[in-house]
Formats: sequence, C-alpha cells, structure tokens
Amino acid sequence: MSGVTTGGVTPEYRGEGVVMRCSLRAVRRSGDPPRGTRSSGGGRSASGVRRGRTWPRGRPRRTRRRPSSSGCGTGSRSAGWWRRAPALGAGLADRTGLPVACDNDVRATAGPELTALADSRGSLLYAAVGTGVGGALAVDGRMLHGAAGIAGHLGHLPSPEAAGLPCTCGATGHLEVIASGPGITAHYARLTGTRPDRLETVAARAAVGEQAAVRAITTGATAAGRVLGGLANALGPDRVVVGGGVPRIGALYRSALATAFAAELMPPLRGLLPEPPLHGGDAAVRGAAALPATLPLHRPGAHR
Ligand SMILES: [Zn+2]
Repeated sequence: MSGVTTGGVTPEYRGEGVVMRCSLRAVRRSGDPPRGTRSSGGGRSASGVRRGRTWPRGRPRRTRRRPSSSGCGTGSRSAGWWRRAPALGAGLADRTGLPVACDNDVRATAGPELTALADSRGSLLYAAVGTGVGGALAVDGRMLHGAAGIAGHLGHLPSPEAAGLPCTCGATGHLEVIASGPGITAHYARLTGTRPDRLETVAARAAVGEQAAVRAITTGATAAGRVLGGLANALGPDRVVVGGGVPRIGALYRSALATAFAAELMPPLRGLLPEPPLHGGDAAVRGAAALPATLPLHRPGAHR
C-alpha cells in the first residue's frame, strides 16, 4: 500500500488530462511506473510518497517494490472537478494496474488527525488556510464527503468581513476571499493602494506596527475564527485543527482567530481551542496511504 499526493495546487482549470498527468507523475515518483503510459507530466504539482508495509506476494522483487494499492490525494482550488473524481480514480487504476482510492488533499491531511483522536467515534473540524481555505469534517469517527464530494469546503461559507467581494466560486462574500493568504494581501492592497509581493511582507509590516497590515491580518483571522466557531456549534467537534501556511505567519493571526473562535462558542463547547496540526508536511501522504482502508477502491479494468 502506498500513498501519493500531487501536492500543492493541481491545475484542474487546465483540464482533466492535466490532473491525470499530475497524478501519474506522482505515482511515477513513488517508484512504480504506470503501465502502458508515456505520460509527459505537467502542471505545477509537487509530490510525496509514503510507502506502507503491505506488498503482494509472489511478485519478483524489484529495486523499488510495487505497492498493493494506492491512495491518491489531489490538491485543487475548487470543488468543480471533484465531481469527476470517480473517473480519475478509475483512470489511474487502469493506467497503473493498481487498485486506487482517491480523495482530496485536505481530507487526506486530516485523516491522521482523526485517527489520533482518543475516541475512535470522535468528531473533528479541520481547516487548512493557505492559498485558499479548505477543510475536512469528521463526525462520529467518519470523514464526511457529502453530495458531489463537496463536504468540507469551508472557504465558501458566508463571511460578513468579505461582504461584496467576488469569490473564486462565482459567488460573493465568502470566507476565502478575506481569510486566505491571497485574500489578506488583497485586503492590504485595498487599504493602502499598494500590492505586496507576498503574505510574509504584510506580516513583516504588521510586526513593526503598520496599522493597515495589522488590520488586514486580524480581519482575515477574525473572519476565519467566526466561521469556525459557528461550525463548531453545528458539529460539536472533539478537536478543532487549523493548518495551512497562513497561521504560520505569526501570533497575531493565531491570536485573532482564537479570540473570534472563542466568542462564537455555545456554553457546552467553551474551553475548546483551535490547535495546530499534529503532523508536518507529510500528513497528506500519511493520510493518502490510509485511504484504501476507508474508501471504495477503483480496480483496474472495472469500468470497462
Ligand atoms: Zn466561494
């Protein structure tokens, strides 16, 4: 069994073929070349692989062994292509000759956090704040996928702080456009008339007391905290995890998020705090490796 993630942002807007090539390239990097393909790779994906312990018996030993099944996690900016995930899983199974389980990258990343809960029937609210705002929801020990696999897209919840701002999904006023990294830098640009090159520039200016920078960061963090607090009331999670690159810009963001989160909680949940992830950069690959145990497998040739 192995886990493969395309990592980063899979450029689904360039078409399904590019998503497939990103995934196949990730599999190839795992040391298990897809059968019968001459994929050239492409896109802006990175990949990582964690090998499991289960290997099929009776196969010749190779320098790099062949896994018995593969879990695939793909990063995507939007939910649209995920409706076609079954076709991606079936295609990958055919082209690799392996059973494949497929899920999005944030659910894969949240998987080890769910496994780590003291209660195997526990509930988890996981947010990933980076170039977008993604998430994963697990209730009573089970990861939610929902209709069209869309469950967990926290960035597209309404946020008063984002009122009137256009979202990548086509609606307006969604959390992602004020709380994500690009959302914070865009807010800073609206406040100052100058566009910073990156989020870390805004963070550095906030650290020396520039009020526009402080406002852009705290507004985004507050928006995220309010939405997560409301979701906590709705779901009753045992643990709330906030991962992704944005919380790492500094204590200002994390503190504002935690304050806004706490202010939303109903009395039974008071004391619940947003926490950083338990695992580092390999969490998505760890989670992808575990997917074949929890998701239906696409098997080679099954769709023909
Ligand atoms: Zn949206």
